[in-house]
Amino acid sequence: MKQSQRTIFQVDLTQIDGDGDFPCPKCGTVISPEDETETVYKIVDTRVKNEELEELVIQCNKCESKIRLVGFLAIEK
Ligand SMILES: [Zn+2]
Repeated sequence: MKQSQRTIFQVDLTQIDGDGDFPCPKCGTVISPEDETETVYKIVDTRVKNEELEELVIQCNKCESKIRLVGFLAIEK
């Protein structure tokens, strides 16, 4: 079993106060979904439903954890 299986963390944006920034569940780096520079994280997968962003999977550039962001639709109301 040499395969490295990383845990995918899940962050529900509806559970986050403020402007949507949250700390990486593993290393604590603050991640802002509004940040599109890819210096802190990069987007690895997006899931769209009815032309609206439903789910986003990102990877923290510091610790390389994958984080699944959910709750976009609830925020868009
Ligand atoms: Zn991290």
